[in-house]
Amino acid sequence: MEFKPSVLPALIEAVAEAVANHAEEVTALDQAIGDGDHVINLQRGLQALMEQREALEQLDWCAAWQKIGMILMSTVGGASGSLFGTLFVAMGKAAHDQPLGLLGFAEAFGQGVAAVKLRGKTEVGEKTMVDVLQPVADYLLAAANTPTGLQELLPSIDRVAVAGMDSTRAMVATKGRASFMAERSVGHIDAGARTSQLMIGAIAAALATQLASPS
Ligand code: ADP
Ligand code: MG
Repeated sequence: MEFKPSVLPALIEAVAEAVANHAEEVTALDQAIGDGDHVINLQRGLQALMEQREALEQLDWCAAWQKIGMILMSTVGGASGSLFGTLFVAMGKAAHDQPLGLLGFAEAFGQGVAAVKLRGKTEVGEKTMVDVLQPVADYLLAAANTPTGLQELLPSIDRVAVAGMDSTRAMVATKGRASFMAERSVGHIDAGARTSQLMIGAIAAALATQLASPS
């Protein structure tokens, strides 16, 4: 199964809708252990992607991801802006195959997550978006090397993302603003982990729809 950048508008719309539907919840998460601006930051970036979605679908994967990364870097702001931006810029550098199959995507996403960790100086277990991104990257790479089809895989991708998001609740934050709370951050889910899971879940669901009825 291969995807072309023509899927991008549907994915951007799905992501923007999922984040909008949970905006208040994410704000409450970031207010508990951060400064409360995470969803507003992210929605500024998603709005910019919505405006550019028709231009993005004309590009190849390398150029599309680079452009998405640059747009996020210049519009989102906060810690998450440079990190989500870095994710896509690094994916753009890593993408080779056109159109992209599961293995090519999994490898590019893995490179993107590695770049986020380098940029944020973050590992798994520090109560950040990396606690969702890394297990999803690991899962995709492992799955890409088995004969499992994307269709069977998509529902489990969200389960992996949800497990990663839930795992941040028990963690002590050691990176970002939440680290100022130290032990008091325990018991709260990280806002960036929640939005990462929401976006990954929305993309998986939108891809499943595309596979069911290709346009
Ligand atoms: P800010 O913290 O500057 O207000 P946001 O509120 O937009 O930025 O984003 C906060 C989110 O960014 C956190 O919930 C966390 O997931 C993520 N984050 C912050 N610092 C790091 C880091 N060093 N590595 C990975 N993720 C981080
Ligand atoms: Mg914040």
